[in-house]
Amino acid sequence: MKRIQTVADVNLTGKKVLVRVDFNVPISNGKVTDNTRIRASLPTVEHLLRHSNKVILLSHLGRPNGQKNSKYTLRPVAQELSFLLRRPVLFLDDCLGPEVASTIDELGDGSVILLENLRFYAEEEANDPTFSAKLASYGEAYVNDAFGTAHRAHASTVGIPRLIPIRVAGFLMQRELEFLGAKTSQPERPFTVILGGAKVSDKIAVIDALLNRCDAMLIGGAMAYTFKFALGETVGKSLVEPNRVEDAHRALLKARDKKVELILPVDSQCTDLLDLEKKKIGKLRTVEGSIPDGWIGVDIGPKTIRSFGKCIADSRTILWNGPVGVFEIPACAEGTSAIAKFIADSKALSIVGGGDSIGALHASGRAEDISFISTGGGASLEFLEGKELPGVAALDRKQT
Ligand code: AMP
Repeated sequence: MKRIQTVADVNLTGKKVLVRVDFNVPISNGKVTDNTRIRASLPTVEHLLRHSNKVILLSHLGRPNGQKNSKYTLRPVAQELSFLLRRPVLFLDDCLGPEVASTIDELGDGSVILLENLRFYAEEEANDPTFSAKLASYGEAYVNDAFGTAHRAHASTVGIPRLIPIRVAGFLMQRELEFLGAKTSQPERPFTVILGGAKVSDKIAVIDALLNRCDAMLIGGAMAYTFKFALGETVGKSLVEPNRVEDAHRALLKARDKKVELILPVDSQCTDLLDLEKKKIGKLRTVEGSIPDGWIGVDIGPKTIRSFGKCIADSRTILWNGPVGVFEIPACAEGTSAIAKFIADSKALSIVGGGDSIGALHASGRAEDISFISTGGGASLEFLEGKELPGVAALDRKQT
């Protein structure tokens, strides 16, 4: 596939530039409580401002279901962005309407404008052509820096770029494509993938795709029990997806054929009671091998932690997605914290994705030691599966 053009490849100066960003951030009492995604957009915004463009920012926030709803206003984001950029950010309380175009035209070069939540209109997610045309009319160039929504064919990811002659990736998008794409397609070896989380069904496509690229795959979390079940082990009351046992079996065979070391937990922390909603567990014990009746595997055990740690230490490229235990309950978080630490300690190129794994990294205070933290949940998985993301397909390719 030809490389995507980025903001650095085109001559954007003194233009009205529409920038699709992902400002879907947590807000409490009118204040942004985690500005990671806003900070992630700064390199692109600052680059465009340095070249005297007018930056018109487009984003969604939450799920307002096509209705205007003050609970989902982007206004607090404008304040936070203004603080981070150290310059005024004009917030418009609608993304459509007669004032939008005239306000943009009246502002000087180097201005920053944030339009209200795109999802206040159902037309955004419906990729409505009239809605796209109105938004497209505000700009002369289009930049997509919202990797997290690139797997959705919405007006702001697909509809607008169809109508604008210059459509390129921002720096954040570029980094996501580089790390999740090139760096895992031609990895420095050994390349180890660590996958966890609740369901095989969510990850089977990514398991299948990554078995073509990696040297070792470490599987933890509830997913591991469907794999162990497929190998004929008893797993007690652990979470198993009976209709995915066949898929797990196929993945095990593929790993053998491809000579990928697929490593499952040899021991587990087990409990006799798990109430995720109340974050309560019963008695805890370490079980090696098969899990007895009535017991539930909730974390990888100490031997598994050591063997996963050794494999991670021997790797030169590492990709991690998904917790290896019920890490929301502190007594079941040891495995996930250990993985975060092993990866942070390693000198390998490390890529971490998925909200829970990133949360565990931040909790361990080691996020700075990771080469790349992906901002896209579903989009990262779809991209790693090898799917072409509609929001990426909509951007211009390099000619050579
Ligand atoms: P995912 O969204 O697929 O990455 O899954 C994350 C969820 O998997 C978290 O809420 C974890 O609590 C859950 N999880 C991880 N390990 C287990 C396990 N052994 N049993 C039940 N749930 C688990």
